[in-house]
Amino acid sequence: MQEKDLGADLRSVLITKQEIDARLAELAAKIDAGYEGKDLLLVGVLKGAVMVMADLARALATPVTMDWMAISSYGAGTQSSGVVRILKDLDTDIKDKHVLIVEDIIDSGLTLSWLLSNLGSREPASLEIMTLLRKPEAAKVDIDVKWVGFDIPSEFVVGYGLDYGEKYRNLPFIGTLAPHVYGG
Ligand code: 5GP
Ligand code: MG
Ligand code: MG
Repeated sequence: MQEKDLGADLRSVLITKQEIDARLAELAAKIDAGYEGKDLLLVGVLKGAVMVMADLARALATPVTMDWMAISSYGAGTQSSGVVRILKDLDTDIKDKHVLIVEDIIDSGLTLSWLLSNLGSREPASLEIMTLLRKPEAAKVDIDVKWVGFDIPSEFVVGYGLDYGEKYRNLPFIGTLAPHVYGG
């Protein structure tokens, strides 16, 4: 879908495809420098991280392997609770590997806290985080996120992997929804 075909569901484009591509190229160069001479395992969390994983992985010069987890986080409505269940675990053993978690967005940080302690207990050689988006709320949690694409306002966003009711994941940009979509 092109930006000119926004349709009635979207209120605005927050980050364009061009801005995402440019930022991922910058981050990829930094990540390459950080893992020089090392093999890197990228771990994505389904389904939101699919787009950022695909584009970041192609922007990296470092040889990478990729693995995926699917988790469900229980909570009321759109808030996550930090209580997490694994729906699909990694296929690979991450012991002694350099692992980079690739995330779509950090909001409360509760999901990521859980993921860090879960993966950390498997004794990787290193464990770092890259996220495309970060909301202000995330600053309250003590998580060291090494690479952040964009700090965004505390608004619900869709596109580039992020959904509302499983829709809008395939938008090539990050946008905000019109109030009527939420029933407003
Ligand atoms: P956290 O545990 O950090 O609060 O929640 C992270 C997860 O909540 C993300 O992986 C994503 O699935 C969902 N989430 C948080 N903020 C947004 C948002 O603005 N838009 C969408 N579509 N999902 C979000
Ligand atoms: Mg995520
Ligand atoms: Mg979702």
